[in-house]
Amino acid sequence: MANTTALNFWTELLDSPGFVVHHDNDVPNQRHCFTVTPRHAVGICPHCGKPTEAVKQRRNRERIVDLPIGSRAVELTVRVDPVACGACACCFTPPIGFLADGAHASERLLRRAAELIQHADVANAARFFALPEKNLEDGC
Ligand SMILES: [Zn+2]
Repeated sequence: MANTTALNFWTELLDSPGFVVHHDNDVPNQRHCFTVTPRHAVGICPHCGKPTEAVKQRRNRERIVDLPIGSRAVELTVRVDPVACGACACCFTPPIGFLADGAHASERLLRRAAELIQHADVANAARFFALPEKNLEDGC
């Protein structure tokens, strides 16, 4: 599979339009690890409302647990690049919609966990998704 085709495949599989998804490993029976990078580091300044794409630094949020693929767990490293507004000089990090604030989990995993919790309890849902209970208590 050509590299560009593989990137598009993983981007579609993870339902992450607007992001470049790189599959970091392919070790049988281990978790799938991906690096997810915004296709365009651009944001609207929350202070002056002007668009900016001046990346101030590179940062990663690591060990973000996402929904499993098949029987294998999925772990993401997500690039979150703070940008500096050229108009008013403030710095901010453009929001990434699928990342849950303050949790090492994706929003869609937390939504699925919330559905599961309706039929079980937090401890069992946390064990099912291999997450600390605290993540689900805060995010659901
Ligand atoms: Zn600004």
